[in-house]
Amino acid sequence: MKLDLTGKRALITAGAGGIGRRTAEMFSEAGAKVFICDIDQNQLEDARDKIPNLNGTITDVSDQLALKDMFEAAIDDLGGLDILVNNAGTAGPTDRVENISLEDWQTCIDINLTSTFLMTQMAVPYLREAGGGAIINLSSAAGKFGFPMRSPYSAAKWGIVGFTRTIAIELGTDRIRCNCIQPGAVEGARIDRVIKAKAEAKKVSENAMRDELASIASLKTFVTSDDIASMILFLCSKAGAHITGQALSVDGGLEGLV
Ligand code: NAD
Repeated sequence: MKLDLTGKRALITAGAGGIGRRTAEMFSEAGAKVFICDIDQNQLEDARDKIPNLNGTITDVSDQLALKDMFEAAIDDLGGLDILVNNAGTAGPTDRVENISLEDWQTCIDINLTSTFLMTQMAVPYLREAGGGAIINLSSAAGKFGFPMRSPYSAAKWGIVGFTRTIAIELGTDRIRCNCIQPGAVEGARIDRVIKAKAEAKKVSENAMRDELASIASLKTFVTSDDIASMILFLCSKAGAHITGQALSVDGGLEGLV
């Protein structure tokens, strides 16, 4: 089955690297016009050079005014909206709850959760105007299990599940579907940083931390950006036409988190 997005207009936050980048590439290959934002100028230019039918701007999703300007630029560029992928996220601090500052808490919530709320609010009238559409939010396995020493991140990612399920109900009659993805550990630079921080906090070696994280997945492996982007593409295509309000795990069968 070929998953087709011909003629669709998609906006992806944090689309220049990692999962967002792979999603932008797959969307473009499937025929969509894509707009991304990111904070990494080099990566953004690289994406613009290499991915057909893609444009984008530098925007930090925690900057509310910049987010509004970016959204308007995306609508101008795309000529409307059919798909929104709220992908931007940050790991936040790695420490016990009593050591976490309000500032670090707030930054983590702003980037992961508040940006998802604000982007969705701006997108809904355009998705409605398009006769329906799809919203994908990036939650995490940390939005399904407790995640020791990552309380702001876990709280934000559980929040995304509640937000997703709620707006799927509110928007169903507009034929706007909303689902979230709960990735496990994705191979790449981000998980390397997460493992390093967790190993330091638990006073174990990075190799031991990596092995422990892989061992709690039933398939005994990490997942890839390809795995996550494929699920996003599936959900946004006709194949996902009757899927809404779901939190879908792509995690090799995680049995918990350490
Ligand atoms: P990543 O750390 O690889 O970053 C992807 C892109 O986000 C980068 O290009 C970066 O420049 C950009 N970015 C970072 N902060 C930004 C900001 N404030 N505004 C705009 N752009 C910003 O991330 P990833 O691993 O691709 O994760 C994508 C999403 O998936 C996140 O919401 C993350 O929480 C979630 N997730 C990731 C994993 C994982 O193991 N990688 C696991 C579970 C959930």
